[in-house]
Amino acid sequence: MKTISILGSTGSIGTQTLEVVRHTGDFRVSALTAGSNIDLLEKQMREFQPALVGVMDPDKAEQLRQRTSDLNITVLSGMEGLLAAAAEPSADMVVTAVVGMIGIRPTLTAIESGKDIALANKETLVTAGHLVMQAAREKGVRIFPVDSEHSAIFQSLKREDHSKISRILLTASGGPFRGRTLEELADVKVEDALKHPNWSMGAKITIDSSTMVNKALEVIEAKWLFDVTFDEIEVVVQPQSIIHSMVEFVDGGIIAQLGTPDMKLPIQYALYEAERNVMPGDRLNFAALKQITFEAPDMDTFRGLALGYEAGRKGGSVPTVFNAANEWAVARFLDRKIGYLDIIRIIEDALSHHDRMDHPDLDTILAAEAETYSYLESRWNH
Ligand code: NDP
Ligand code: MG
Repeated sequence: MKTISILGSTGSIGTQTLEVVRHTGDFRVSALTAGSNIDLLEKQMREFQPALVGVMDPDKAEQLRQRTSDLNITVLSGMEGLLAAAAEPSADMVVTAVVGMIGIRPTLTAIESGKDIALANKETLVTAGHLVMQAAREKGVRIFPVDSEHSAIFQSLKREDHSKISRILLTASGGPFRGRTLEELADVKVEDALKHPNWSMGAKITIDSSTMVNKALEVIEAKWLFDVTFDEIEVVVQPQSIIHSMVEFVDGGIIAQLGTPDMKLPIQYALYEAERNVMPGDRLNFAALKQITFEAPDMDTFRGLALGYEAGRKGGSVPTVFNAANEWAVARFLDRKIGYLDIIRIIEDALSHHDRMDHPDLDTILAAEAETYSYLESRWNH
């Protein structure tokens, strides 16, 4: 039986990963972590009996320790808890399902501990892709994408020769505001942006999907996972979210992966190391579906996508600033402190203020994040 640890087990990806664990009965759980949701984490501890759990918030960690004193489970807090969960000795694989670039250090720690990675936490690849991919190569660790588009690309490439790729066709739903003008976006409220047409996900990625910053992060994620250039990645809007992405090869042939929008498939495919296994659930009915439609992304209205391509092409520390500014701005939008279009203004402001650094190491990346935050605090926090 294979053993996994899940970083961010109380979130959307984390809970769906545990559903896969539950219905397959093929996995043991060795470590779980949460930010602060100890009510759910306690239930998960009682059901899955991990050896260790981590809670970011130290007070919540202490409360959880008291509540679970009847269990023989270590409860750690802060980054120490995340890193210990990432390195928990009995795990074969670590599912990285925390949100944000807080995942960089635990992901690197898991790789250094020789664990395969089921990677949902895209912000880590966007900001530290060069470090993660190099560490994985050095350690002989495999990275299985969980993001649905990247899983689709991974599935499409399974029997193909990498040198025969001509383009990655990364599909996008276009989000809830597809077709709107900038004027129509000016007074978008948090509630509107939290309504995704096809997927139910955590709050941050749902906002990112509405601004298309999520697709920008995915373009950079694809560059690292599949070792392609930005010119070889094209975003195709496919509003029904049926085609999860496609790969075009040098002979013009295209292989795509299709399915209902359900993250449990890419999660399960990663957990089983790219092998297929039975999964219950709805199946596509093409006669009922009738059509799948396509359009080009509107990068003038959804500037976040254009900015992300630009940041990715510049490389070095620039994608870190793009990502950190977005994390900062989305948190403030969710707190109702800024308007919807300020998210993109804030990203542009941070990018134009930043002096690019080449080949940033971990400390440089974390320093660029901290500098971006303090710059934005001084400019936008009033
Ligand atoms: P959620 O917000 O639903 O869950 C995030 C998880 O991380 C929770 O367990 C949360 O704990 C924990 N967490 C949040 N902040 C911190 C922190 N500062 N330190 C430690 N732990 C923290 O996110 P999602 O599951 O939606 O997304 C997770 C990752 O997967 C993201 O990178 C996202 O882009 C990616 N992804 C998600 C998809 C989806 O369908 N949801 C699809 C493709 C990719 P708590 O519950 O206590 O707050
Ligand atoms: Mg995705």
